[in-house]
Amino acid sequence: MKERGSDILKEGDVIHLLSRKGRRYQFQLRSGGKLHHSGEFIPHDEIIGKRDGTLVALSGGSRFIVLRPTLAEYILKMPRGAQVIYAKDIGVILTYADIFPGARVLEAGIGSGAVTISLLRGAGEKGSVTSYEIREDFAEKAMENIKRYLGETGNHRLINKDIYDGIDDGPFDRIVLDLPEPWRVVPHAVDNIRGGGIFLCFLPTIIQTVKVVESLRESDCFTFINTIETLIRHWNIDGRSVRPEHRMVAHTGFITIARRVEKPLS
Ligand code: SAH
Repeated sequence: MKERGSDILKEGDVIHLLSRKGRRYQFQLRSGGKLHHSGEFIPHDEIIGKRDGTLVALSGGSRFIVLRPTLAEYILKMPRGAQVIYAKDIGVILTYADIFPGARVLEAGIGSGAVTISLLRGAGEKGSVTSYEIREDFAEKAMENIKRYLGETGNHRLINKDIYDGIDDGPFDRIVLDLPEPWRVVPHAVDNIRGGGIFLCFLPTIIQTVKVVESLRESDCFTFINTIETLIRHWNIDGRSVRPEHRMVAHTGFITIARRVEKPLS
């Protein structure tokens, strides 16, 4: 994985150019390359070696701040095959699935790789992430997104397979699902999550959520079955205007979490 501790911008780093109006433009630094924007340019070599957060001027005089994107900012700008899960839900997924350094995590599907990057960071180099995905084109794009942000990851495995047909390589500590019919994974999850392990799925509708909750109950192997959603409301704080923002993202999806046990108490 790329080292992120240093504040010196390096070849291969993904950077955002931030305009005065708060717009962001994403680039990857390549020695010898030229960064073009709105008819102006700056050689990458004038940015490589500078500090994260530095101010630069392009050839026409426009000024920008150069910043390495946070994961949440990167996700918003990365090329997408499938719809991604955004930071507000990823934060909750990481804590409620209790992704710890060293965890063996299974996810499906990989989509655009937003959750994968987050799981890889959470599980760390001592952990591992296995991603099941049926669409090779999505997987390819996701793997590029992951590599661009994290660099080489030796602890990530992609399996081009339909997870509804089964899971081969358990047991896992955690299973994280973002696909349309997670209830079809429940029987395989029973055999492939270790005792005390966690099953988590993200679903856009409550009809799907009810179905997965019922199948978790029927399996008679899970307890603490719990469904939540995340609402984040931004605030405007500017002089006397101190109020919530008028608009918010009201709905993305429902997160259902369950804990694998020998048998739930009835
Ligand atoms: N969490 C991802 C987005 C996942 S979108 C992200 O944040 O980037 C859902 C993905 O699940 C799609 O890529 C789809 O191809 C995949 N998928 C759907 N059904 C599947 C199945 N049965 N087995 C494996 N992958 C599946």
